[in-house]
Amino acid sequence: MRYISTRGEAPSLDFSEALLAGLARDGGLYLPETWPRVSPAEIAAYAGRPFHAVAFDIIRRFTGGTIPDPVLAAATEAAYAGFGHQAVTPLQQIGPNRFVLELFHGPTLAFKDVAMQLLARLMDHALGVRGGRATIVGATSGDTGGAAIEAFRASTRTDVFILFPDGRVSDVQRRMMTTPGEAHIHALAIPGTFDDCQNLVKALFNAHDFRDSIRLSGVNSINWARIVAQVSYYFVAAVALGAPHRKVAFAVPTGNFGDIFAGHVARRMGLPVETLVIATNSNDILARTLATGRYEMAAVEATSSPSMDIQISSNFERLLFEATERDAGAVRRMMAGLRQSGAFTVPEPALAAIRAGFQAFRAGEEAVAAAIRETRDRAAYLTDPHTATGIVAADRAAIDPAVPIVVLATAAPAKFPEEMRALAGAEAPLPARLAHLMSAPERIARVANDAAALMDFIRRNARAAEEAAP
Ligand SMILES: *Cc1c(COP(=O)(O)O)cnc(C)c1O
Repeated sequence: MRYISTRGEAPSLDFSEALLAGLARDGGLYLPETWPRVSPAEIAAYAGRPFHAVAFDIIRRFTGGTIPDPVLAAATEAAYAGFGHQAVTPLQQIGPNRFVLELFHGPTLAFKDVAMQLLARLMDHALGVRGGRATIVGATSGDTGGAAIEAFRASTRTDVFILFPDGRVSDVQRRMMTTPGEAHIHALAIPGTFDDCQNLVKALFNAHDFRDSIRLSGVNSINWARIVAQVSYYFVAAVALGAPHRKVAFAVPTGNFGDIFAGHVARRMGLPVETLVIATNSNDILARTLATGRYEMAAVEATSSPSMDIQISSNFERLLFEATERDAGAVRRMMAGLRQSGAFTVPEPALAAIRAGFQAFRAGEEAVAAAIRETRDRAAYLTDPHTATGIVAADRAAIDPAVPIVVLATAAPAKFPEEMRALAGAEAPLPARLAHLMSAPERIARVANDAAALMDFIRRNARAAEEAAP
């Protein structure tokens, strides 16, 4: 199986190459050339299987043999062994035909662990085959960084640099990044927003000489392997609710569009998905795009769901590629518009295709607070502010009442204790296994919002730079 760029001007790669490359050299994102299918009988056979076994069966359809099956089986088993719930991603019922899929039982209490725990293992394997080290650089709005650092702590073949927007992540999120003491882990505070951090990372990937000199790899959700690792839980949840015999809808708290794009992939593979509901917070670029056809950046607003405080939703490019029937030229024109004027118009047939498969709703801060209180009072269930945007969107979505709707719970309330107190007067204590976090010493590097300064810092601290030097 080959992977092609959404911008059509980068060489196609195999799975391991796409895993190590992250962003394509033409600035695009990799997608498989064709979608593997899972038959209804195969979907039915997932019932009752352990999570890691379903993950293995889904992901092996994408690897094209570049990760041997026994290696992949061992990696999926190890990745989920440390989760704090036996079901890995349990479903909870919060109302008639209304469910919450808890994706936050990993080490950093957010759904990003599901993909990152596997990604780190697959990367170390791929680097072992290729030889040498890699330098991993990623931007985080809060949760990716902690998940990446936690997953790569044991890695022997990487140096990891995580950029986070200074002062715009929660204390728990920051401490998950700054308290690990391993010398190959670097948490970098950048004065700016998540979009600034993400733009710096993109600049590094587009500086080809620098990129090669440090053997740059990415772990943001632009990395195809992360998306693939998130497809599993759509299947697991849908099968628990009656798929393939019954359709299921999903509501997904959305920022960079990685998580919900995994739902699109599940649907393309044959999972009967009724609709995918995009939930945004006040940073509602995607809700506006679906309503008006115009993708138009606005200023980033700080909200109680900081991991969704985003105006450039990178993985939306993958959906645009799909919705234009894989017209790389059309994608290049839209992305050029975004670069030049901060906006583009989605052509009419593509917009209709997107609306046929997705709905989108904005949840402002008051709606989020009301959803947290209402769910607690009615269902005795506490959700974090990100998940609450999904509940708001599920309430507003137009869905046949006979179809079950699953809200993806992307973080545990304990990760956002100040927000929980302020929004709902609710206490959400950290699990005992994370009690050390609030007292451990922190290690933070401060780097200017400037690509040259960042390159200099990385060059001085990345061991792959020495290996690549003549
Ligand atoms: C990253 C994140 C999101 C957004 O996910 P995307 O894949 O970027 O759309 C939502 N909620 C939480 C808690 C997150 O960490």
